[in-house]
Amino acid sequence: MIAVLKQGTTTQQRDSLCEWFRNMGLEVHVSEGRYKSIIGLIGDTSGVDIGLLESLSIIESVKRISEPFKNSNRKFHPEDSVIDIGGTKIGGGNFQIIAGPCSVESREQIIQVAKNVKASGATLLRGGAFKPRTSPYDFQGLHADGISLLLEAKKETGLPIATEIMNANDLDLFEDIDVIQVGARNMQNFDLLKSLGKTNKVILLKRGLANTLKELLMSAEYIMAGGNENIILCERGIRTFETYTRNTLDLSAIPMLRELTHLPIIADPSHATGLSRLVEPMSLAAAAAGADGLMIEVHNDPEHALCDGAQSITPEQFDTLALKVRKVREVLSL
Ligand code: PEP
Ligand code: MN
Repeated sequence: MIAVLKQGTTTQQRDSLCEWFRNMGLEVHVSEGRYKSIIGLIGDTSGVDIGLLESLSIIESVKRISEPFKNSNRKFHPEDSVIDIGGTKIGGGNFQIIAGPCSVESREQIIQVAKNVKASGATLLRGGAFKPRTSPYDFQGLHADGISLLLEAKKETGLPIATEIMNANDLDLFEDIDVIQVGARNMQNFDLLKSLGKTNKVILLKRGLANTLKELLMSAEYIMAGGNENIILCERGIRTFETYTRNTLDLSAIPMLRELTHLPIIADPSHATGLSRLVEPMSLAAAAAGADGLMIEVHNDPEHALCDGAQSITPEQFDTLALKVRKVREVLSL
């Protein structure tokens, strides 16, 4: 990190600032110019509050040279991380498709969809038991019963389960769940992230509706700082001025995150577009952009789905999608 001091800063002011930095455990290098001094800071500057620094009367500008995320940073971990979900690997060339309904609705529904998506090549089953709905009057999920039904579907098909947590108090219910999802709305629920950092569960961290990639990585950092490095990142569309689609799938996030982090990156074209007919083209695009996997909403009867029917594809449509994704993956390996 570099701090440029304003012209006219006294030696005493500069020295007391340097002392402040040293007390934070940083190495300080002062370079004296004819009119201005520049302070170079070496060490872990992630705890330095840039806003506070910039507000000091003697500071002209501050620039970070290295990113504030350390654990997820590719610079310190050049190899792709491969996350092991009970033998199903994702990242480092391993591609997985998570498919299933937006929410678990009944035993028949979840088991039927699980069997269908498995037959088409899905390798994990999704289904929400705790649903973060915009309206409190909408279906909120089956909660503990939903988790039990997911575990029944796992027993029936062998598919590992991914499902969303909204409150750390529910963690006990997730003991046998393979992948705990943190939804877009909770990406910056820092207490939840800290609690998940103390577990050894695989965490699927979805990008917030209006969050930058740096903020996504800082949220991953919250989990990793607690000791849990099993994180999969998910681009699920961000809010823009466009209204034809539910969100805008930020495809460039995939190769950009690939540069910044070693963590696996998947895409969710269902929540990104909100339209079932756009799910296949955007899945293919995400695979072509180098995603490590996809998360797709599949429902046996989308018209009567209790949640997100408009963006849910049928098992038949999923079958075609999975086939085409395999073809795109083949092209990528040429
Ligand atoms: C979901 O995956 O069911 C979900 C609610 O997604 P998001 O958090 O991305 O809106
Ligand atoms: Mn949904």
